[in-house]
Amino acid sequence: MEQQDEGPQAITQIVIVDDDQFQLKLLSHQLSMVGYKNVIAFDDGQTALNHMVGLVLDTTIVILDLNMPNMDGLEFLQKLRDAKFTGALLLVSGEDERVLQSAETLASSYDLLVLGHLNKPVQQEQLQKYLKQLVAQREKLLVGEKQHIYSAERLKVAIESGELVNFYQPKVLLHSGELVGVEALVRWEHPEDGLILPDNFIDLAEENELIDKIAQQVLRNALVDSNIWKKSGINITVAVNISMYNLNTREFISYLENELLTSGISPNELILEVTESKLMKDYSLVLDMLTRLRLRRVNLSIDDFGTGHSSMAQLRDIPFNELKIDKGFVHSAYDNATLHGIFDGSIQLAKNLGIKTVAEGVENEADWSFLDGSGCDLAQGFFIGRPMRVLELSEWKTQWAERYAKIAV
Ligand code: C2E
Ligand code: MG
Ligand code: MG
Repeated sequence: MEQQDEGPQAITQIVIVDDDQFQLKLLSHQLSMVGYKNVIAFDDGQTALNHMVGLVLDTTIVILDLNMPNMDGLEFLQKLRDAKFTGALLLVSGEDERVLQSAETLASSYDLLVLGHLNKPVQQEQLQKYLKQLVAQREKLLVGEKQHIYSAERLKVAIESGELVNFYQPKVLLHSGELVGVEALVRWEHPEDGLILPDNFIDLAEENELIDKIAQQVLRNALVDSNIWKKSGINITVAVNISMYNLNTREFISYLENELLTSGISPNELILEVTESKLMKDYSLVLDMLTRLRLRRVNLSIDDFGTGHSSMAQLRDIPFNELKIDKGFVHSAYDNATLHGIFDGSIQLAKNLGIKTVAEGVENEADWSFLDGSGCDLAQGFFIGRPMRVLELSEWKTQWAERYAKIAV
């Protein structure tokens, strides 16, 4: 079946499920005003489901009220999951924002495509915004599907033949905009497939005992590149991502010490960003190694703080001196009371422990302004600078100084 790429044509049918007759009429009317004529309304979940059997589901949008007397919205979501619904969803409720957010998270965990949620009474502009987003989201999903799956053997060849390269993303001081460090982010320069992001091969590397080799290469390259920056007068810290799995053996520490000696980079110019690993074997060995590294003045950063992989228990046990607040709590926090609350709490927590804070995922000027005066020390994100190659940093630094001068006024 042919699918148009824009506007109402990309959607063949909209199904509204809401027990409130007035809402049904209002929404149908709002949709027809913006050109969506093929709208069917149901005041009961089961009837809607019966109707949906046989529809072309991936071009169907369901606008779902969460509060319904017979089958409630959450049960409806389960049925959609069971039916492997491939269309898109918009959730509507008169309940508070947090209930809507939880329902949205739940639906996503069922692998349902959720465009967003709407508070009653539904605003026309909001509704239209989400419908437009659908087209963009579809494109993103298609890109995702194009990703290849790689074998461990192929990855091993890539590591040995030097196909992995470090990109670097700047970290700047919030109060002055000054560049104080970079984070090394590994990429695979695949000869046919182009630049491949780490999420596509880090798990594979961990599962096949290739992660140590990657950590070693990334670390060595980061130290070599630090010396390149030093020569051009850029004195900054460099952060390397380490999975706790890398600390399953004592080998890593001696490798690291050797590399520091060879490069002449001092330990306090290096930051290790630590994330938990599913495959971590011996927690006491990890604690031992991290404490040793800290004693030698290497900086330790708890990465993705606030997510399932990064917890209070780790903060209690490991002598971290930097905390990176996960982008999920930074981007859009200006606009979301829950994120705002968690963000402020994390800053306070870090302050109580006397450790530095970095906000990840600063994507736009609104995110940046939100951080101003928040008490956070450092910022990192696409708004400031995308991950780049070693030699691009100096040019970026000049451009950022000009941009910062404008946003700081
Ligand atoms: P991470 O350490 O939390 O790194 C930050 C990730 O967020 C990077 O993705 C970066 O490109 C992305 N990012 C930066 N600014 C923004 C922004 O404003 N908005 C959004 N949405 N994203 C932003 P990347 O490079 O794809 O890396 C993903 C993860 O892969 C990293 O998350 C890290 O956990 C892991 N990783 C990267 N390099 C290595 C490595 O050398 N070793 C290991 N073990 N893991 C690595
Ligand atoms: Mg990191
Ligand atoms: Mg992170």
